[in-house]
Amino acid sequence: MKCGRYIDVKRPVEGVPVPEVFRPYFCPSCLKKTGHDPFEPPFCSICGMKFYGDHLKNHRCGRCLGSPPDAGRVRAAGMYDGVMKEAVHLLKYSGRIGLALPLGALMLDAYRRYLSDLPLPLLVPVPLHPSKLGYRGFNQSFLLARNLCRRAVSDEGGGSKLSIDCHSLVRSRKTPSQTDFTVEQRKRNVKDAFDVTRTDHIRGRRVVLVDDVYTTGATCSEAAGRLLKAGAESVDTLVAARAF
Ligand SMILES: [Zn+2]
Ligand SMILES: [Zn+2]
Repeated sequence: MKCGRYIDVKRPVEGVPVPEVFRPYFCPSCLKKTGHDPFEPPFCSICGMKFYGDHLKNHRCGRCLGSPPDAGRVRAAGMYDGVMKEAVHLLKYSGRIGLALPLGALMLDAYRRYLSDLPLPLLVPVPLHPSKLGYRGFNQSFLLARNLCRRAVSDEGGGSKLSIDCHSLVRSRKTPSQTDFTVEQRKRNVKDAFDVTRTDHIRGRRVVLVDDVYTTGATCSEAAGRLLKAGAESVDTLVAARAF
């Protein structure tokens, strides 16, 4: 998917601890080059910031001890680096929507590991503004949530408790891309950018907000704050990749 080389999925990728699900999408040499940084404990029990050190246990980071973000518990399928970063970029900016499949599968694993204590969770993908959706043609967060759900249904049949709501949370204001923004600029940029159109679908629900990347958390916190204001009982956040 990256270099255009033919991929022999039967050929093992030696010495590279990358998730198996990427095998049909990247050749062994690309996987070897990009590598993988898994999202694993120890991390902040709230915002999911990863701690690097073997002796540490999960605990609250300094920032969450002070003022925890509205985004609730933030959990990820991997760190925003290596093959995860590559896959998210190819999905988002090159329209390789097939990558939502392995990414969704990894997000389901992360959901099961870290958020499965939620009874009847409602997945809410972070929406795009209609003009951006028109330009890109798809909402990557919706594709990730949908594939996560489909995977859960194919594994668990009718037993899957996951459902998606992609209509109740909307982007009411167009915001410029914030790739080069500072933390404060990002917060200002997304302020009041979301609206809840169907309060009755959100009220009392345990929401899992789904997004592709968690960077400073400005977008997810703003969206989560809006959902809480609409009466959601709790909001947690699940992303494909979490930046450091
Ligand atoms: Zn390659
Ligand atoms: Zn934290």
